Amino acid sequence: MGSLPKVAIQGEEGSFSEEAGVKYWEKSVVFIPKRSSDEVIKAVEENEADYGLLPIENSLIGSVSTTYDLLLESHFPIIGEIITQISHYLLAIKKIPLKNIKRIYSHPVALSQCSSFLQGLKHCEIIPNYDTAGSALKISREKDPGIAAIASKHAAKIYNLEILAEKLEDYPNNQTRFIIISKTAKTEYHKNAKTSIVFTTLHQPGALYRVLKVFNDYGINLTKLESRPHKTEPWRSYFYLDFEGHKADQMVKEVFKELKEQTNFLKIMGSYPIWTGKGKVEHLHLKKTEDEDKSHLPLYSRERQDKSTTISLKSPNMADVTIGGGAFTIIAGPCSVEGRKQLFKTANIIRESGVRILRGGAFKPRTSPYSFQGLGEEGLKLLKEARDAYGLYIISEVVSPADVELVSPYVDIFQIGARNMQNFTLLKEIGNIQKPVLLKRGMSATISEFLLSAEYILSHGNERVILCERGIRTFETTTRNTLDLSAVPILKEETHLPVFVDPSHGTGNRKLVLPMSKAAMVSGADGVMVEVHFQPDSAMSDGNQSLDPEMYSVFKKELDMLIEKLIS
Ligand code: PEP
Ligand code: MN
Repeated sequence: MGSLPKVAIQGEEGSFSEEAGVKYWEKSVVFIPKRSSDEVIKAVEENEADYGLLPIENSLIGSVSTTYDLLLESHFPIIGEIITQISHYLLAIKKIPLKNIKRIYSHPVALSQCSSFLQGLKHCEIIPNYDTAGSALKISREKDPGIAAIASKHAAKIYNLEILAEKLEDYPNNQTRFIIISKTAKTEYHKNAKTSIVFTTLHQPGALYRVLKVFNDYGINLTKLESRPHKTEPWRSYFYLDFEGHKADQMVKEVFKELKEQTNFLKIMGSYPIWTGKGKVEHLHLKKTEDEDKSHLPLYSRERQDKSTTISLKSPNMADVTIGGGAFTIIAGPCSVEGRKQLFKTANIIRESGVRILRGGAFKPRTSPYSFQGLGEEGLKLLKEARDAYGLYIISEVVSPADVELVSPYVDIFQIGARNMQNFTLLKEIGNIQKPVLLKRGMSATISEFLLSAEYILSHGNERVILCERGIRTFETTTRNTLDLSAVPILKEETHLPVFVDPSHGTGNRKLVLPMSKAAMVSGADGVMVEVHFQPDSAMSDGNQSLDPEMYSVFKKELDMLIEKLIS
């Protein structure tokens, strides 16, 4: 047999560490027992072992502080974790009554987990020892029937000991989490990963709060927060934090960028698969090189998927529409659905022009609570009627995760508005649905934040995302927003997703809608979404930026002409 990888563990054969290791690697490694955690680290450092396995926390007694302190100093990443059920047994060389036991040996952590049982044995001397299995080994060697050890059932078998009492722990659900460190093992990117970091905060009020806020802002789940004293600066602390995500995830990279500004010291201890009950034997093999493996790249990125995403709308009795992949698509309609007459008159103009997708807000995210908030479900029903009457696909905004189910049957494309671009709960909810979604750029969002919001939807399984540039806030007040058309070629390079432009919200001025639509087309956009109203001056929202029927007709004609020119 070729040489098996070696794992240094704290404790003798039969220890809980060994049990955890067996669970992780099955039988494909050799265990090297060490008396202390320091020695485990040293064995890895000096290449005596390929892996080190250390207990880090227990569900009854909390963190194993020696492991935390060692991790701060160690130069090796954490590459895995294992959680095992711990059950304690009282062992001796012969079956004797409990009253005849003089001394009991075990690891201090095990002793503290069995405190109620030990309270009942006041006549015994309780002696902390370096290891549970080491205590079993000791009594098996001393051959004194009056001494006992608290250790695992497995240790009883290995050292040929009798079980005097079982399941001694104070609480039945006693679990320990172990970590695996390695100097040489290459781990592959894992979607379901956890990352461990240690940091010190800036010496300022609210410093820890600001660190935690970064995670909250990105919607990242924390699984552990622990503090340990700073050994050289009294009353300062090292904070150890575990969170869900991998250090190669684009979002986690952004988090680190922000954390660097909020911390004095920051060390990434490792990203590793979250324990699911199954071992990670594949760690033993060298992994593919980064060039071959694109799984750590963001789902939106062109680097990961070169082919442009196209989104097809299909419905019985309606012609198919394909968004992206070279076509230039116009979406038009009123800002809000105001009533049947308004919607139908406008829908008719749009259908006549040959445009196939009708927009109309039923749930309106208005800046003022006193502005028209939309007709809600009644508006959606009118959109559905217009769909059937004119054969137009429908896009309408959903503003809350609770409304997704309600809105879904009425629309062909969901819209997520600028104000909700970072409503992560909504993004996740839409991510779970298989229906196209047009995501608008937040009014003060960077391009990178915009892409990460799209990543939320993609990573939850919905691949049909359209991005929409709709203007950002700048110091300029002549236009409602500053339409950032430079975002279009940047996005087209960064992502395979279709990119739209909304010149209506981007400028707030109907006169600018046509020139900016032309500019959008030339800059490489896959389409535009514009607001049209049969009578803009009477519109309940965004009348100033809505095209009237005459302007819309010129708009459509001129864009058609420009398309012709660009093609020829
Ligand atoms: C809209 O499209 O009507 C709208 C509210 O847009 P935005 O979210 O871009 O402001
Ligand atoms: Mn609007």
